[in-house]
Amino acid sequence: MNATFKSMVPVCEGDPCIRNGSGAGATVRFRQESRRRKSDFARKCIAVILLHAIFLFAILAALIIGHWISEENQKLNNRTMLEKKRNFTILDVFPPLADGGFGIAEQLHAVRSNKLSTDALLVPLPLYILPYHYDLQLDFSQFDTNLFIRANISIHLESYGNSTEDEIQFHLGPNIKIERMRLKKDGKKFYAKTFKREESKKLGRISLRDPLQKGKYILEMAYNMTICDEDVDGVRCSLDNQTNSSLKSTSFTTKLEPTLARAFFPCWDEPGVKATFNISVKHNKKYTVLSNMSPIEQPNKVDWDDQFKTTVFQPTPPMSTYLLAFAIGEFVKLETRTERGIPVTVWTYPEDVMSMKFTLEYAPVIFDRLEDALEIPYPLPKVDLIAARNFHVGGMENWGLIVFEFASIAYTPPITDHVNETVDRMYNEFRIGKLIAHEAAHQWFGNLVTMRDWSELFLNEGFATFYVYEMMSSERPVTAQFEYYDSLAALVSAQSEEDHRLSLVRELATESQVELSFHPTNLYTKGCVLIRMLRDLVSDFDFKAAVRRYLRKNAYRSVSRDDLFSSLSAYADHGADKEKLNYVLEGWFVNEGLPEVTLIRNYDNEMMTISQRKTVHHEYRSFLKDRKPAAGVRYRASRSAEDGSTLFDDTLFEGYTERRKDKRRKHRPARRKASTPPPISPIMRRDELRKPRRVGASQDLWTIPITYMFGSLKTSEGQVIREFWLKNRTVSFGDAEISPNQAVLVNPEWKYPYRVNYDLLNWKLLARTLHQNHLEINDKSRMQLILDAEYFLSNSVNPHLYLYLLGYLAHETKMEVMLFGIDAVYRFIDVFKATQLNKAILVYFEPVISQMDHLLNESQVDAETASLWLVRPERLAKLYQMRCAAGLHSCKNEYYTQKWSRSPDEWTEDVHKQVTAVCHQLFTNTPEEVKTVQELLDSRLSSSGAKWALTVQLAACSHNQKLLRKTARAIVSTKNAAVYASALQSDFSLHYNPTFRKYLWSEISKMSTFEKTALFSTNSTNILPASRILLHSVKTIDELQQIRGLLTNWGPLLTLHFEYLERYLLWVSSVSQGVLHQFFAADLSNF
Ligand SMILES: [Zn+2]
Repeated sequence: MNATFKSMVPVCEGDPCIRNGSGAGATVRFRQESRRRKSDFARKCIAVILLHAIFLFAILAALIIGHWISEENQKLNNRTMLEKKRNFTILDVFPPLADGGFGIAEQLHAVRSNKLSTDALLVPLPLYILPYHYDLQLDFSQFDTNLFIRANISIHLESYGNSTEDEIQFHLGPNIKIERMRLKKDGKKFYAKTFKREESKKLGRISLRDPLQKGKYILEMAYNMTICDEDVDGVRCSLDNQTNSSLKSTSFTTKLEPTLARAFFPCWDEPGVKATFNISVKHNKKYTVLSNMSPIEQPNKVDWDDQFKTTVFQPTPPMSTYLLAFAIGEFVKLETRTERGIPVTVWTYPEDVMSMKFTLEYAPVIFDRLEDALEIPYPLPKVDLIAARNFHVGGMENWGLIVFEFASIAYTPPITDHVNETVDRMYNEFRIGKLIAHEAAHQWFGNLVTMRDWSELFLNEGFATFYVYEMMSSERPVTAQFEYYDSLAALVSAQSEEDHRLSLVRELATESQVELSFHPTNLYTKGCVLIRMLRDLVSDFDFKAAVRRYLRKNAYRSVSRDDLFSSLSAYADHGADKEKLNYVLEGWFVNEGLPEVTLIRNYDNEMMTISQRKTVHHEYRSFLKDRKPAAGVRYRASRSAEDGSTLFDDTLFEGYTERRKDKRRKHRPARRKASTPPPISPIMRRDELRKPRRVGASQDLWTIPITYMFGSLKTSEGQVIREFWLKNRTVSFGDAEISPNQAVLVNPEWKYPYRVNYDLLNWKLLARTLHQNHLEINDKSRMQLILDAEYFLSNSVNPHLYLYLLGYLAHETKMEVMLFGIDAVYRFIDVFKATQLNKAILVYFEPVISQMDHLLNESQVDAETASLWLVRPERLAKLYQMRCAAGLHSCKNEYYTQKWSRSPDEWTEDVHKQVTAVCHQLFTNTPEEVKTVQELLDSRLSSSGAKWALTVQLAACSHNQKLLRKTARAIVSTKNAAVYASALQSDFSLHYNPTFRKYLWSEISKMSTFEKTALFSTNSTNILPASRILLHSVKTIDELQQIRGLLTNWGPLLTLHFEYLERYLLWVSSVSQGVLHQFFAADLSNF
């Protein structure tokens, strides 16, 4: 499904803008162009949005497969999700993450197939005998007829010291059939007693007649295996069955990470165990075979065979087994070189050559840039990039042979060279550039220096993600920076919810736990954010030097985070105190979640209390606080319950530094670049592997660099910043310089990844500052304030304070901040859309939505700003909905409705605007006034595919009972939970249509009990995303009661979901009749 989306995204022409840094050039050209071009941009932008909408639907539709059919997956998920509790309470109920359910997953190799046929325990192999070299001779001559490979392997082993051990253990996948086996010591046969397989651990065990002695052994095996078998992970095949007569395999590419090398050859399959490899492959002459290294040229070799030949590859440097890679197929190549002359070759199929132009041009640029930044030359003699078909992840960084899924790096040049392609081109080049940069960074982080154990995978993925932003920000600083903060926001949100907040470093006991740990947020983003934190703590200059030291010292070796720390300066400055860097960061690595910091001020005596704890979401959902709220309970407004009673500690105050905001670190001169390759250290150090594995226990205490700021840029004192370490749970102190009417801002510029809560008055002072002059607060901090205010206030007893804060957005001029504002305002309207306050809320936000419109128009003259919309295109769809709901002129509902009605099948550039307007038109007019559109929709309900999906979403906006009933029937007859959820969460409307929902639930009620039970997964402790979205899309108590009547037994967890929703909906109605009602009745100028 990703492929559908990706292949439909348009187009590039001329010099790629990333390559020649023409971001600015594009802007200039844009400005010179006429207004026509402005609309051209919007056109393209929307085209992408529309594709996105289709894409979303495809995901939703796909989810159903996991729901109705695959019981197996369900079992697997149940087993692998880290379940600890059995007795559930209301606090175990988690609504779907806002926007988190169906966002576009990163096109990195995080996107994994969850299909694991078997799970196996990960058991570390004994260290008394380890491999240092493999000779692998593969025979691919039959792979294209019966998916069969033969091989001979010689594993060169070193036994350390005489021992009593008389067993050799190695990894062996179940698909490998061993034909012959022999063990030698010093050229002589060494007798084995028995050989047996341990399937559950995917191990082979050889028992020996005599104990192992110190010295070198060789283990030889002849084996065969089938590949491209659905049940065997490890080798992906691109099958071509065009011939009808028989299945014909034309190519395959391997992906052995994390624990699949054992399915390709018997080996010591642990990332820390590095060895060298000599590889040769026999294959049909018509195919090209690729591996990590270049083939050895054999100019004098006489080739007698017509059909087959053997390609021999140069020996590899010491490397981990998971990085070994092969590709075979009828590829064509596109060649270029890096500045240093390293050949960079893109391999693809003849028909796809044109779409690889950008990849070919950009890849060497990234390699040059990484060499410059890291001051270590790329260590292999060549880089191959292959655009594979049917590869199940976006990219895999195999050393020297990077494999990409075709669509993730393909980009077809347009037929015309027109400026209106600029935005799309920038977006697509950014998308591809990120992926190339990520896999290229791995050539150093992961391939040259490898984590010893999967539990510290962030040493690979965190660094690779970090360097994506570093590499991409030289030509696309605005997009790269915004995307970083957008990911940070997603991380903070996910890590605030108990079922999403995994620690970065944790024990991984099974293969599937390792597979699932490749998580876009919990691994990639968290790793990147914490590496960035580390950099900010030691300064950019020191960080760069430390990274170079780390890579040089550990080249060809495996490491733990201790090796990273030993390359860094031992101490970190923050304020006057130094702290040990590893001590500071340990909590951030091993603790689950992220901390939240609370500032409580005493306005009478200028005392402040700053405390920390792990984010506890239910504390800020006031409807979860009371044990049992009865209907009609009024929630009282109260000051924070935080107890700031810790005694005043004078010493804490001594170390404070005070400096003006604009004071910068001194710039140190850059050092001369070194260019020598790093020394190759001994093949492998057993002692290195013997170091104890350190995972660390999660605690709830962090060492937090606290910075707070007060004052105004307008006064002579300016803004004052103070810094100190928060190591305890709570500190209290006085700061006499702060006057009671000044706001205090913690974590200015959103530098470190923690949430900040304040006492209510300080929240109010901050909101007031935003209203009076939002530029007093840095734009990154404005993003954090919007995010944190939503978290702490929106579900509290004081949602009006959050509403007041958001109101400042009417003056917001920074596009990046407004994009956060769009999410926040949209969600607020959505929560209250079924209440009587809906109208008042829309009126209140009208100037904010107008300002969003204004910024959208402004962004259209600057290609780089415009492409920010494409970071999450659904934001544009939200804006369309909001401006229609608020009745803004820009909705143009009549105009667009007519346009759509005239040609509903013509998916023109503004089709998303059209359908949003149609929905609004249907909802706000009487059935008679929109008779023609209704008839049109009625007739289209029998269509199929995307056209049908669009029709049902539109029909659901109408008030025509006959049409609504028919639509509800059509939706429910799909038997697709994801389609139901999608219909209830319209992509085109912020309106609440109770009649449609009533009919939909009523149709669902007619299903059999078996189907309803499956739909809601009542028997499971893991409610699938689609079911959860379905349930939590409910907006009123009446609707909830209707659903409750669908089944008699909902099971313990779903019963709790009902209780949760009941409390929540009561809260919605109570605050809208209480504090929110008062808020709208009051004079806001005195707020
Ligand atoms: Zn990666």
